[in-house]
Amino acid sequence: TQATLDNIAVRDPELEAFITVAKDQALAQAEQVDVKGVAADQKLAGIPYGAKDNLVTKGLETTAASHILEGFKPIYDAAVVEKLQTAGAVNVGKLNLDEFAMGSTTETSYYKTTKNAWDHTKIPGGSSGGSAAAVAAGEVPFALGSDTGGSIRQPAAFNGIVGLKPTYGRVSRWGLIAFASSLDQIGPLTRTVKDNALVLNAIAGYDERDQTSAKREVPDFTASLTGDIKGLKIAVPTEYFGDGVDERVATTVREGIKQLEALGAQVEEVSLPHTKYGVAAYYILGSSEASSNLQRFDGIRYGFRADNVQSLEDLYVQTRTQGFGAEVKRRIMLGTYSLSAGSYDAYFKKAAQVRTLINEEFQRVFAQYDLIVGPTTPNVAYNFGENQDDPQVAYMNDVLTIPVNLAGLPGLSINAGFVDGLPVGMQLIGNRFEEATLYRVADALE
Ligand code: GLN
Repeated sequence: TQATLDNIAVRDPELEAFITVAKDQALAQAEQVDVKGVAADQKLAGIPYGAKDNLVTKGLETTAASHILEGFKPIYDAAVVEKLQTAGAVNVGKLNLDEFAMGSTTETSYYKTTKNAWDHTKIPGGSSGGSAAAVAAGEVPFALGSDTGGSIRQPAAFNGIVGLKPTYGRVSRWGLIAFASSLDQIGPLTRTVKDNALVLNAIAGYDERDQTSAKREVPDFTASLTGDIKGLKIAVPTEYFGDGVDERVATTVREGIKQLEALGAQVEEVSLPHTKYGVAAYYILGSSEASSNLQRFDGIRYGFRADNVQSLEDLYVQTRTQGFGAEVKRRIMLGTYSLSAGSYDAYFKKAAQVRTLINEEFQRVFAQYDLIVGPTTPNVAYNFGENQDDPQVAYMNDVLTIPVNLAGLPGLSINAGFVDGLPVGMQLIGNRFEEATLYRVADALE
């Protein structure tokens, strides 16, 4: 833990992955492991990690990268933080993100500008950009992120590491600051597939405090790392290599798919024709849920409160006006509009129907195939400031990750190679609760 803290002190002034480094708390936790010794089931004993700063941590400032939560110290730990502590892992701090996880570049953070681990002139991706950069740069062996529309997989792809969005319900969301509750999942970012499986082992499982938590056995995910993928049936959607996908990214991922064939997998092209409607449906549904979830930030209960206010209503208005950034306000407005009486049928209901179609289309594929493979993102990491002027361009970046959240499926991003020295991500998508299959295939390629 001390070595990790020293390493962060050297690297992070430039990388800017951490919002808060929990030096004293981390050393105390590590000492507990030393003093108490390691129980047989403490598979992560003494291993340092970082948590995305939208996971609440007891007594440790938790900001969701928003001004409105500045100074907020939660009174409890998120379920995943509790579970990691039980497994012996040591939390060394809180990692940067887009404000309330809304974004794809980590640039909407109120606090800092995290760099891509491979090229400091490029964005790290987002919203879990701090988590991905910290792991890729070797600051921590693993980190936790959250993924609502791609926020674990896309930064993992842009930083050349392994990132899993588990099946919806696999990991408890208790203590995750909610963005869009029907889409959010917490997952691990690691440098290897085996590490990823080990962390999922520790954080997965039923939790009665999350009403959408699944009552499902948690297998030992490391047991599936056999290297054998002979006979597995892999579907490659034509749409995932279509318009807007960089040719060099497509070629790199197709080479990875050839390797899978060489290892004995059966590969066939399929069609997922509703893919192109995913982004539009997501921004209606996700923003609607966000507008509701973010009502609680009123200047009374948490963090920042505006000064010099004239009345209670003025306190709410001033706090929210000064406390939220532009992207968050855009989502709140979009969401409240979609949910308003006059627009509900035209927007929210339609988007929910599109979600059903996307789900059905995936299920048709999984009736015949074990997994789906394609690129994680249409591009590699780009320059700071690019895409910031036109949110619609930035939103299209998530076209390949969003459908997976809409359908509640597990998605794993692994590195498939490089374009211009920047990592390319390959995405493996499985049927519900089939994370083991994703790990098995990813491990065979490693
Ligand atoms: N980039 C997407 C958005 O801005 C996804 C974010 C996420 O997964 N948290 O909403």
